[in-house]
Amino acid sequence: MNILVTGGAGYIGSHTCVELLNAGEQVIVLDNFSNAKPEALNRVINITGQQMITIEGDIRDAALLETIFSQHNIDAVLHFAGLKAVGESTMDPLNYYDNNVNGSLCLLRAMQKHGVKTLIFSSSATVYGDPDSVPIFESSPLRATNPYGQTKLVIELMCQHWVESNSEVSVTLLRYFNPVGAHDSGTLGEDPQGVPSNLMPFIAQVAVGKRKSLSIFGDDYDTPDGTGVRDYIHVVDLAQGHVAALKQRNEQAGCHVFNLGTGQGVSVLEMVTEFSKVTGQDIPYQIAARRPGDIAQCYASSQRARLELDWSSKRELQQMIADTWHWQRLNPDGYV
Ligand code: NAD
Ligand code: UDP
Repeated sequence: MNILVTGGAGYIGSHTCVELLNAGEQVIVLDNFSNAKPEALNRVINITGQQMITIEGDIRDAALLETIFSQHNIDAVLHFAGLKAVGESTMDPLNYYDNNVNGSLCLLRAMQKHGVKTLIFSSSATVYGDPDSVPIFESSPLRATNPYGQTKLVIELMCQHWVESNSEVSVTLLRYFNPVGAHDSGTLGEDPQGVPSNLMPFIAQVAVGKRKSLSIFGDDYDTPDGTGVRDYIHVVDLAQGHVAALKQRNEQAGCHVFNLGTGQGVSVLEMVTEFSKVTGQDIPYQIAARRPGDIAQCYASSQRARLELDWSSKRELQQMIADTWHWQRLNPDGYV
């Protein structure tokens, strides 16, 4: 199949390109490189020994989409392109609505015009907001607590309405929990710009000596050790979840929703301890104030994906850490 991968140069998109190419798919990447480097795509080619088409451009560029959909016989779209920083989204919400919502609208319009009926969309556990209970099921209440999360909810709704209007369309909404880790070659990984806001890349930068110490945001949550609990999932498992979704859903019309997580909650302190154990590196930390907007705990039930997609995460926390560390040591400054 010819698969258009928007945002394919980014962290999750690039790992998914590897899995798609390994599965024998033809890949066309569309990325504006606003949060990625072309080098990531060279690494994908090196890992797989396969070629793919790269187009530099924006999903909001309707003329460019028209050219892409006219020139390539696209069978399905994997849509990763978007902005993802929660804090930034509260400071510049209009840019988030433009990039994420307007961008997705442009993409769906082009798909509709060219009769492309299969879409897999990168949604997020953030659509559950502060959950009433854990584990979180796909049927749990939806309530975004920041503009980024709200853009995901709006796009999900737009996809559902599109499906309702066209009985041939298949949309799969994948709600990711916390992607971490890197490709086991050590050549592909997360390359955050500036100070990482996520836990795992921050710890990795402390371990490699780029940052002095980790601030743990709050130790008084209602969790076993007081620190925040999340469901960390290896990015390669996540990437393979897309291939599973593509395989299963390509022929089935409708709107399908899946959590992609491990079902295991890990606290910040547990992560720090385990990181030290796996890597042998000391991770200095201090307890700091809670981060505004953070929730106590969030982890998935991924039962639906297991039953319906025949997919489940395979890589344990130790491997997530080992692969993060391998990538971080080999690429202390990312793709530079
Ligand atoms: P990323 O920033 O590494 O990748 C996004 C890619 O999209 C980047 O390569 C960027 O250059 C590109 N892009 C952004 N806007 C674009 C536009 N208008 N046109 C073309 N390209 C554009 O992020 P990621 O971590 O790989 O996340 C991928 C998707 O998964 C995003 O939609 C994100 O919201 C979602 N998601 C990520 C996480 C996470 O923790 N990483 C969790 C849940 C959901
Ligand atoms: N966290 C932390 N210090 C950091 C970054 C994150 O203590 O420098 C905590 C954060 O409060 C949360 C957990 O680590 O409890 C995961 O945060 P991350 O930003 O990675 O994911 P999210 O909160 O978006 O699920």
